[in-house]
Amino acid sequence: MIEIDTVSKVFTGRGAPFTALDEVSVTIRENEFFTLLGPSGCGKTTLLRVIAGFIAPTSGTLTLEGQNLVSLPPYRRPVNTVFQSYALFPHMTVAQNIAFGLEMLNKPRAEVKATVDEMLALVRMTEMAGRKTSEISGGQQQRVALARALAPRPKVLLLDEPLSALDFKLRKDMQLELKRLQSETGITFVFVTHDQEEALTMSDRIAVMNAGKIRQIGGPRDIYDHPAERFVADFIGDTNFLAVELLSVEGDQARVRLASGAEAQVRAPQDGMAPGSVTLAVRPEHASPGPVEGATLAGALENIVYFGTDTHFHVMLDDGTRFVLRQQNQPDQAQTHRTGDRVGVILSPGVGQVLRD
Ligand code: ATP
Repeated sequence: MIEIDTVSKVFTGRGAPFTALDEVSVTIRENEFFTLLGPSGCGKTTLLRVIAGFIAPTSGTLTLEGQNLVSLPPYRRPVNTVFQSYALFPHMTVAQNIAFGLEMLNKPRAEVKATVDEMLALVRMTEMAGRKTSEISGGQQQRVALARALAPRPKVLLLDEPLSALDFKLRKDMQLELKRLQSETGITFVFVTHDQEEALTMSDRIAVMNAGKIRQIGGPRDIYDHPAERFVADFIGDTNFLAVELLSVEGDQARVRLASGAEAQVRAPQDGMAPGSVTLAVRPEHASPGPVEGATLAGALENIVYFGTDTHFHVMLDDGTRFVLRQQNQPDQAQTHRTGDRVGVILSPGVGQVLRD
């Protein structure tokens, strides 16, 4: 639906030119919840603003349903934005805020009223229609901002960290709420966040960005289970990195030799890789503590941290690498390991991922 092709943005202010977007190409599909995820300063907001039309790209093309967007001013684009700050009119009521954009478009009164009622129901704010937006909570303001942005029925809704002002519990509720709104309206959502958990929970697909480039695009499971490179593996979830020797690759499977001399069957990068020294990523839940005898790796147990649902074991491997294991707790399970013990690390077969550099 949105085709972004080799878009770059170089800011040329008083200082040295700064490349905020470096030849970004991505296709966003109709009716999907698409997330731009990355650390602060990676260019997420810049890309969103390029789509909205607030920033002109330095080079590259941008189309929506085949129509060139770059030549259209923001108000002519069939997109709408929800900002982090909500930007509601405090002296207006909830209903007036939602109606505002529709009135600007000179919609007939009856149509405005019907749409406002529908939007109020959609975001579950019908009871609050007559309240001033300065007299409602942050979570309620967030709902009004969403309703206002959805009311003109944009083809695409752009959301720039819209949940970051909310407290943890409300944020969790609103994540589900946003997902519901997206599927009920069928509008394509492009959502910006630096919160990996938020991205994994809500998105159909995620583009992981770093330093102005898209590093990987995929579904949440794809990105988590098959990170393509170290940055992605590190940014999303917890990961152990091991220096290993890649011995052979067959399809999506690879054979590696670990520092201990043991060999293991793991996942190969999707685009293949030549044998040699490589990095292996292993999620903490894909390894468990066990007897040293016959284990893939071994080391000293430095710390045991109890988290209720699971326990983390911090191991200093014999080659000096730190390794974290995560084990799900069972009710009334006796703890057999003690800090200071020498333990074996047992890798689950076939789940480590060999990374591209
Ligand atoms: P955050 O999560 O902190 O909002 P972001 O990934 O959204 O980060 P952007 O706002 O897109 O990052 O900014 C990307 C980079 O471009 C940053 O290093 C920023 O300082 C720089 N930048 C943004 N706007 C301008 C501008 N108008 N002039 C110069 N540099 C800019």
